[in-house]
Order: sequence, then C-alpha cells, then structure tokens
Amino acid sequence: MRTGIGYDIHRLVEGRKLILGGFEIVFERGLAGHSDADVLAHSICDALLGAACLGDIGTHFPDSDPAFRGISSMELLSNVMALVRERGYQVVNVDSVVLAERPKLAPFISKIRNRLAGVLGIGTGSVSIKAKTCEGLDAIGRGEAIAAQSVVLISLGQGK
Ligand code: MG
Repeated sequence: MRTGIGYDIHRLVEGRKLILGGFEIVFERGLAGHSDADVLAHSICDALLGAACLGDIGTHFPDSDPAFRGISSMELLSNVMALVRERGYQVVNVDSVVLAERPKLAPFISKIRNRLAGVLGIGTGSVSIKAKTCEGLDAIGRGEAIAAQSVVLISLGQGK
C-alpha cells in the first residue's frame, strides 16, 4: 500500500469553460490553463504519481509542449493510470476536496464521482469528492481561483 497527495490551483477567468473532474459545469467563468485546467483531475494525477513515486504532472505533461494544449485532463488522468498500472499498482480509493467559492458544486458531485471512478477503474463508492468554500477569505474566497487537494491509496494488485 502506498499513499500520495496532490494539490492544484488555477485562476478563474472569463471566456473559458469550467471543467471539474471531466464534467463541464455551466458558469460565467472557467479555469485558465494550457490544458482544460481541470484542477480536480490535476490534483488526482499528482496524488497518483506521488503514490507511485513517478514525479509530477508537470514533468510528464509539460505546459511548454503544444501536444497538451487544450487537452482533456481526463486523458492526462488515463495516461497517469497507465503509468501506475505499468508499475503493477491499482487504485484503492481517492479522497478529494475542491475549494471554490462559487459555483455550488453539490449538484454535480455524483456525476463527477462516476466519471472519475470509470477512469480510475474503481467503484464510485471508492471516490470521495467534497466541496468547500473559503468563507470569503483569500484569492479562492474572492472568487479569483479554484483549488483542489487529493489523497489516494494504491496497492500492488494482480492482473491490472
Ligand atoms: Mg493544473
């Protein structure tokens, strides 16, 4: 068994889609970034890479590489899963916190969990996603950014 932790933050800007956990959420702004800027997917990627001691998302998918421009972060997560599986690991569970002042994420949580569970190859009951505001404090609290933190557990499995 090995654990990993991941964190990411992206700026909220006009003229971008808001994508969280591979799911598009209708909102007046979206997250700025080289890819689709899915902070939740990015934090899970980093947690998985951390658990397997495989570096971080920036080393595998550098934002200087045009190949990753506008790419779906669920595709990056699939690629990370392939690396983790190559090392013989399978995911046990994921627990994430999304820090966003707005929009309210509660209506989307179960869809996001389903989507992530599919890519991670585990049941929805092993993917926990929680949403928090920052009580009006700091850049997230002022609505300037959305952040995500994730912890994963992986184990050496068979046949994966
Ligand atoms: Mg990121």
